[in-house]
Amino acid sequence: MATIFTHPIVPVAAAYLIGRDKIPTRLLVAAGMVSIIPDFDVIGLQYGISYGDQFGHRGFTHSIFFALMMAIIASLSNSYLQASKNICFWMVFIGCCSHGVLDAFTDGGRGIAFFWPITAERYFFPWQPIEVSPIGLSRFLTPRGLDVLISEFWIVWIPAGILMILGKRMSSNPN
Ligand SMILES: [Zn+2]
Repeated sequence: MATIFTHPIVPVAAAYLIGRDKIPTRLLVAAGMVSIIPDFDVIGLQYGISYGDQFGHRGFTHSIFFALMMAIIASLSNSYLQASKNICFWMVFIGCCSHGVLDAFTDGGRGIAFFWPITAERYFFPWQPIEVSPIGLSRFLTPRGLDVLISEFWIVWIPAGILMILGKRMSSNPN
């Protein structure tokens, strides 16, 4: 995993690029939540599901298929989320799918089961600049946890911040 602080940055940056005025706060919160939901699969580790199992960590919840399911649920809940079906679909899809994408840039753990249920094979990107976050708060609150945050700051936060500023400029300056 990347950390719980970093995954929601992707849908937030997307919201500013799409135009913050088109994305109700309720939808933005939902997209932020689904960017974290895939890591709830670590609960399975406590119930004897092994990390490498298709239902283990970075398994089916990190797949494109799972993100599609979340996006369909969001588009069907569009009146609650106060936006069009289309916007709900894409915001939640980006939020959820970006989770596995960020994880595939991390330098540890197993790869990501992007193409589940077609294949349970795990994938990483060839470039893995993000330090993998330790599982569990006690292991996170160590110098290693700080290293993780620093790597995420440079690789995710700074580019996302630049995209947000660009998005804001584009929406405030339509010409
Ligand atoms: Zn993850």
